[in-house]
Parts: sequence; structure tokens; C-alpha cells
Amino acid sequence: MLLTGREYLESIRDGRALYVGSERIEDQTVHPAFAGCAGTYAALYDMKADPSNSDVMTFEEDGEHFATYYLRPRSQGDLIRRNCAHRMIADFCFGLMGRTPDAVAGNISGLAMKPEVFDSEPGGFRENLLQIYEHMRRDDIFATYAVVPPPGARNKEYYQSAGVAQPACRVTGEDDKGVILNGMKFLATGAAYAHEVLVGNIMPLEPDQKKESITCVIPLNLEGLTLWSRPPLNRMDTNPFDNPLTTKFDESDCMLTFNDVHVPWEKIIVHDNAPLSRNIYTQTPSHVMANHQCNVRFHSKMRFLVGLASLITKVTGARDIPAVRETLAKLAAMEAGYGAMIDGQLYRYHEVDNGYVLFNRRALYAALHWAMENHSHLMDTVRELLGGGPFQFPASIDVMKDPYLKEMFENYWSTGDYGAKERMKFFKLAWDLVGSDHASRATSYEKFYVGPAHAVRNYNFVNAPWEELHGIAEGLMDTYDIPSDEMLLNDGGT
Ligand SMILES: Cc1cc2nc3c(=O)[nH]c(=O)nc-3n(C[C@H](O)[C@H](O)[C@H](O)COP(=O)(O)OP(=O)(O)OC[C@H]3O[C@@H](n4cnc5c(N)ncnc54)[C@H](O)[C@@H]3O)c2cc1C
Repeated sequence: MLLTGREYLESIRDGRALYVGSERIEDQTVHPAFAGCAGTYAALYDMKADPSNSDVMTFEEDGEHFATYYLRPRSQGDLIRRNCAHRMIADFCFGLMGRTPDAVAGNISGLAMKPEVFDSEPGGFRENLLQIYEHMRRDDIFATYAVVPPPGARNKEYYQSAGVAQPACRVTGEDDKGVILNGMKFLATGAAYAHEVLVGNIMPLEPDQKKESITCVIPLNLEGLTLWSRPPLNRMDTNPFDNPLTTKFDESDCMLTFNDVHVPWEKIIVHDNAPLSRNIYTQTPSHVMANHQCNVRFHSKMRFLVGLASLITKVTGARDIPAVRETLAKLAAMEAGYGAMIDGQLYRYHEVDNGYVLFNRRALYAALHWAMENHSHLMDTVRELLGGGPFQFPASIDVMKDPYLKEMFENYWSTGDYGAKERMKFFKLAWDLVGSDHASRATSYEKFYVGPAHAVRNYNFVNAPWEELHGIAEGLMDTYDIPSDEMLLNDGGT
């Protein structure tokens, strides 16, 4: 079943406990802080349900159609199909939304490509995982994830000695129907809009953290589950001309608190097994499948950014200055290079277990690392190209409502080639990309969404073929000998 946008909106009006400060948001699909982005998600659902997109956005199995992002790839063609679906979604959002429905769908599909990992040790629930995968693709589910413990949970001495409640989400009880969860998880992007959340652990746990190993996929409206939103970026007076990106793409980030939340057994995939709770991402295709979406999404953002940067230089009149052309050339080279890192994942794909294939791991982790390292630089480059432009313009386009101000604005703010309103449109868009609150939150997102920098580097370290790389230098050294002491004495070492 493919949901339409209207059906999607209806399905997320589910009574979840979503809070902005002390205000409980009764209906996020109409509240001014959330309605704009809810509309974007609805439009994505409509795009997927549109029959003219079905070749890219859906696949067929046993006579049923599902979203392509639930396809478990068996050939390079399947990988390309997934890649194209991610791209269509990312392009729709200009690469500005990390948690579109295809993101965590990659995690779950990747787990379902190697379900035997759940049999390898006690506490894994293989059948539940497969049922959850079936349910998600059948019911067209959009899930987010919260897989990091809160900072307070990292200091055992503190919460043990101070007698405060352990802040990490953990199992505090169980019965024949399921388990009880208490504590907190950090930080579910998209939680205001998703149907469900994968609760788990992307960071390794200590062996004695068995109760924290709970991994489950649960609806966001379970009793006792509360969503604590960061400040939303849209207010009553935010308008699409002054903030064209903020109004559509503020995807939300929420801390999740669990207060005696009852989770039925069938929603649980790991329980009481600390190593397994983390290994399920790295010992299955899950992490790679999900992060290919992140790479494609970042590439869409780069394409948008490079195009906009070039347009801005036309508006400022600086495009033909050699130094400015060079800056644009560098941006274009970075964009093309990044695109090639993604193409490489399709071209050098791996054959993995159970007849499935997977995007090239090393190219994927290299692209994740590159994006994390370079995003701020890219944004800063565009900011530099903008000069002081964004600050020349009035606070809002509503200046046009006043005939006196309007006349002055149209007169003084126009240039030979561009009218005042036209210029303002470019600069407001560019500022929303590089300088607004929305841009600032995106800068943190690009640094941290996949984990801290040292973790991203570690993925690159552990996947590097060190033996093969060592062999290159060792092979060369094998072609000449270490001179003997005698030779050194006789020849002076040469
Ligand atoms: C906008 C945004 C959206 C997010 N969305 C999600 C989501 O949807 N789901 C989810 O589960 N999580 C999400 N996260 C959380 C994200 O996974 C964490 O922010 C990330 O893992 C870093 O953890 P931290 O924020 O606790 O930073 P800390 O661990 O407190 O680190 C702070 C700084 O210290 C550095 N540091 C810490 N330890 C070391 C070390 N050992 N070596 C070197 N440097 C170190 C870090 O690199 C970082 O620069 C999101 C984060 C942000 C900012």
C-alpha cells in the first residue's frame, strides 16, 4: 500500500506527546511551527504514489508494490534503482532534509538482508525483525531513529553516586507482553513527522550495559513516550519569500523520554545483549544501506549550492572576474568529485551474504568523511561570494505593502540588470542556505548526524585494506636488500 500525501498527514495525527517548551502540539500538520515541513513530507508521499514515478520510486514483489527504499538489492541494477529513488527524493528537498523516509528504511532493509545476525547470540529476535521489515514496507512507514545515549549517561560515577535515575533509555521491567522502558534517547531528527522510531545503540556499550541494549522499532505515540523538540525555526510570521528553505525544510529534532513505556515483544529486535545491539549495524548491510542515502542527499545539496553560488555571482556582477571564476571552478570540481565517489559505490559494488549486493563500503565512508569535513568550507565560500548582499535588504518583503517604502525600494535597490525584488529573492534564498538559523542547524547536522568525527574516521580505518596497502611498500622493499655490516664497512654504505 502506497500512502498518498493526504493519507500520510492523517496517519501522523496520532496523539503523540510532542512538546515545544511547555506547549503540547496537538496537531503538527497545522501548527505554524511544523505545518510547512509536514506539507513537504506529504508532497514526497504524493510524488512516490504518482504512477508516472513508479519505475523509480517503487518495486514489485509477489504482485505488490512497495517503496524502492525497501528493496533488498540483488544486482547492480537494484543498487542503481535505489540510488535513483534516493536522488529523486533528495533533489525534491534540495538535499536539505536528512531524515526523509528513505533514510532509516535503508537501515531496516539492511538488517533484513542478513537476519541470521540476530540468531548468532542470545537476545536477537530474527522473526520480529523480518515481521517489522514486512510491516514497514507494506504500510509505507516512515521511521526515524534515536541511537545515541544522552550525555548524562556517559558518566557512571555521577548517576551511581548521586543516586539520580540512570538517564539512558533502558529496560526496567518485563512481563509476558513485553518490556518497560525508562530513560532518554538522543536525538531523533524528523520525529515530529515520522510514524515510528528505531531505538537502539550506534555506539558500543559496555558488557554490563545489557539493559540499555534494547533495540526496537516503535510508534511515536506510545503511552509514556514524550518528544522534546528543539526550538522550531518557523514562527507565525515566517514567510516563504524571506525564508524559502526554513518554511519548507525544518525537519525537527527531538529528544525522546521514556516514562514506563510498554513495548510489546514483537517490536523488539535486541534485548539483554550489549555487543549485539551495536553489531547489528556493522555486521549487516544496515549502516552502508542507510548512509548511501546520506551521500546522495549531500550531493543534491552540493548541486543546489554550486548552482546558486554561480547565479549569485551573476547578480553581484562578479562572475567574470578571474578570481571569482576560480572560486566557482573549485566548487564545481568538488561537486563533480563528490558525485564520482557516489558513482564508485555503484560501480565497485560488493557481493554480500544471501545473494544480495551492497554499495562499495570504502567509497561510502570516504564520502561521509569528505562531506563532514568540507560542508562548513562550502558554506563559507558561498557566504564570501555573497559579500554584504544579504544585509542590504529590508527585513521582509512586506515592505512592499507601504507605497512610500515600495517606491524607494524599487528605485534604490535595483541594479542595471536586476530589479530590487528580484535581487532580494536571490539573496534571501542564499542567506537561508548559508546564514539563517536553518543554515546554522544544518551545519551542526552535517558535522554530527552520522556520529562524531572520530567515529566517522574509524569507519574509514577499519574498512581500509591495510594488508594490501602495506604490501605495496613491502613489495618495493623486497626488490632490494638491507646491506650487510660487511658491505657497509667496505662500501661506506652506498
Ligand atoms: C542536528 C543534529 C541531528 C541529529 N540527529 C540524530 C538522529 O536523528 N538520531 C540520532 O541517533 N542522533 C542524532 N544526532 C546526534 C548525533 O549522533 C550526536 O550529536 C553525535 O553522535 C555526537 O555526539 P554528541 O553530540 O554527544 O557530542 P560529544 O560526544 O559530546 O562530542 C563533543 C565534541 O567532542 C569531540 N569528542 C568527543 N569524544 C571524543 C573522542 N573520544 N575523540 C575525539 N573527539 C571527541 C566530538 O567529536 C565533538 O566535537 C543528531 C545531532 C545533531 C547535531
